[in-house]
Amino acid sequence: MNKDILYKKETVYRKADKVTVESAFAYAEGYKKFLDAAKTEREAVKAVITMLEAKDFREYRFGDKIKKGDRLYYNNRGKNLFIFTIGSDGVKDGLRIAASHIDAPRIDLKQCPLYEDGGMAFFKTHYYGGIRKYQWVATPLALHGVVITKDGNTIDVCIGEKDEDPVFYISDLLPHLGREQAKLPLSDAIKGEQLNVLVGNMPEDEDDSVKNAVMALINEKYGITEDDFFSSELCVVPAAKARDVGFDRSLIGSYGHDDRVCAYPSLTALFDSIDTDCTHSLMCILADKEETGSDGVSGMQSDLMLDIINAIADAFGISPALLRANSKCLSADVSAGFDPTFPDVFEKMNSAFVGCGTIFTKYTGSGGKGSTNDANPEFIAWLRAAMEKDGVIWQSAELGKVDAGGGGTVAKYIAKHNIETIDLGVPVIAMHAPYEVVSKVDVYETHKAIKAFYNFDR
Ligand code: MN
Ligand code: MN
Repeated sequence: MNKDILYKKETVYRKADKVTVESAFAYAEGYKKFLDAAKTEREAVKAVITMLEAKDFREYRFGDKIKKGDRLYYNNRGKNLFIFTIGSDGVKDGLRIAASHIDAPRIDLKQCPLYEDGGMAFFKTHYYGGIRKYQWVATPLALHGVVITKDGNTIDVCIGEKDEDPVFYISDLLPHLGREQAKLPLSDAIKGEQLNVLVGNMPEDEDDSVKNAVMALINEKYGITEDDFFSSELCVVPAAKARDVGFDRSLIGSYGHDDRVCAYPSLTALFDSIDTDCTHSLMCILADKEETGSDGVSGMQSDLMLDIINAIADAFGISPALLRANSKCLSADVSAGFDPTFPDVFEKMNSAFVGCGTIFTKYTGSGGKGSTNDANPEFIAWLRAAMEKDGVIWQSAELGKVDAGGGGTVAKYIAKHNIETIDLGVPVIAMHAPYEVVSKVDVYETHKAIKAFYNFDR
């Protein structure tokens, strides 16, 4: 028979040439630097603005003029960015939107965090996003974030990243005394109120309080008082750096691939597109709060995207409804890579395999396609043609077995505005763990895929 009529999933290494693999390895070096510089959404916004300004982007404020050739970004409170460029075609074909998120699961300090017990000082915490709590104990942690004082000064905090910095720590039981804990289900073995961060053990000379001694050191270093914690946003993240994984260095281990592994390619694809005079108008959304449900003023359920689309439509004298109807969106977010150590939760035919390229996910959600936008086949066909034109290696997958669980992305919050949307992204091993793993060639194919989407002329 004619074997050409059969679909065969193959790795990038088999399908692509050597140059592509070398390009993927070179591309990964920039990505790893971005991972280490941007462990929180605020740090990601700062790092991205530096990249944008090097490319002659300027900050957009509501009321500013928008015209062809503009390279603009809207900085939403330092937490989320809307980056957009107006091509020579204007907006007659709508906007090509890639939306990813720059927040990642972590452990936030409570607003009244500092206390002492058993001669040690700790911070109380409340975890952010879907973490497996038992994974965050007995490992070095760093503290990132901001404290805003009453007079409006912002104090940046980043401690635990430099070699000479101290780190922080959440304890676990020793196995010798862990007999009862070991009988608990994983979800209960470490409880939310046990995620207490160790921050000191040395009392002040004139005062036996370790807590007071730690507060004095914080005051000395940052000039803040204990009530300043009320207006702080302090996050505990793994202190580890992004590293190559494996003898062949084909993989990258890091905290927070989800979803910087799509945010970074969205941005580099945008830069490549404007460097080659892409005629379309492009938007790259770097969202916050995806991991907690996209709520809040910096999440994708806010009306800010509509406000920006309305401003663009207004500048070109077309109705925002038409602009949205003509727009297309890639919700660029990760999916689960098939893990042979835990095969029971995957359905192999429709799972993503690490090293087999970027993933298109028609639907996310859970239990009978609940809470998903479920992309239209007409749009997928258009994307297949776009990917083929640029030789992008991709796979189609869903998260896991039908009734094994599930998850969502920002896709449905964009699709509901009458913007054709599909999920695309990188397969991740151990998603939401303090240290996740992705493949270099998958990251690079995601960059190529978003670039192909931005540029496709049809
Ligand atoms: Mn994600
Ligand atoms: Mn996630």
